[in-house]
Amino acid sequence: VALGEFQLIDRFFRDLGARRDDVPLGVGDDAALVRPPSGQSLAIAVDTLVEGVHFLPDDPPDSIGHRALAVNLSDLAAMGAEPAWFLLALTLATVDEPWLQRFAAGMGGLAKAHGVALIGGDTTSGRLTVSVTVVGFVPQALALRRDGARPGDAIYVSGTPGDAAAGLALRQGRLTAPPAGADRLLARFLWPTPRLELGLRLRGLASACIDVSDGLGGDLGKLCRASGVGAEIDSARLPLSDALRELLPGPRAAAFALRGGDDYELLFTAPPAACAAVESIDGAAAPRRIGTIVATPGVRCDGVALQGDSGHGFDHFGAG
Ligand code: ADP
Ligand code: MG
Repeated sequence: VALGEFQLIDRFFRDLGARRDDVPLGVGDDAALVRPPSGQSLAIAVDTLVEGVHFLPDDPPDSIGHRALAVNLSDLAAMGAEPAWFLLALTLATVDEPWLQRFAAGMGGLAKAHGVALIGGDTTSGRLTVSVTVVGFVPQALALRRDGARPGDAIYVSGTPGDAAAGLALRQGRLTAPPAGADRLLARFLWPTPRLELGLRLRGLASACIDVSDGLGGDLGKLCRASGVGAEIDSARLPLSDALRELLPGPRAAAFALRGGDDYELLFTAPPAACAAVESIDGAAAPRRIGTIVATPGVRCDGVALQGDSGHGFDHFGAG
């Protein structure tokens, strides 16, 4: 017998994620009640994953749960915000309890790791779709916006862009690799890491910031347009992983790093006075300088303009 909607919510979603003192009323009523901290702005974002568009039907359910929350936390990271609460709008084609169990475990694990609480949502039937809304906090003056880059600022990216796109290409059989490297790249697609700690450290240092979801080149184009500037990047400086270099020798690795999406790394700019502090940040999310902001609009790599209206980013309504 399939679970009813209320049993389903009760079983899998009532206690998902962290417990927080600022949630006097969570899942179960018509709306949640929360207590925002005084003196800070709320940072709010929503992102939806649709089966067949953003994930494959046979992706591990725990990875789908993880990714749906991770891509939203990444948006908060890119604002320099501290995450607090989230809502889950879930559309299910069927009620598959083992699938839901694993989905909830993947989402709940990441939520607990970052101290965020699921405070409500919606459950409907239809094509499998996972929509998450996150809420976080940031003092308004410290929010990392897209529009603050100025000529002369250095451009940085965290992590090793291109890995997730290569992992997806491997998954889809468009590329083949020896098993070890393939696993590492695929993991970057299935289990993206929201760079929340880095976002917090960039408060007061970065002049502009965006997370890389549609491809480094295209997302840098968005940041530049918002700031009214252009960018020069140097392909030799792109921080490519060993796994990506082994898979794609020569310039194809850099092309994946520029065009590939789904990295969820932070791409940001910093004025010269902040560069030493930025470059002292280490760990897996350590930022690497890849270029410089200039006055001339457009994004150029090794002096060559990246083509297309949206740079090289993925566009749902464009040619792709
Ligand atoms: P309503 O009819 O008032 O919209 P619902 O029946 O949709 O309420 O949901 C009942 C409660 O369960 C609400 O508190 C809602 O926020 C929560 N809820 C529904 N679906 C989910 C979900 N997928 N994840 C978390 N909470 C959910
Ligand atoms: Mg209601």
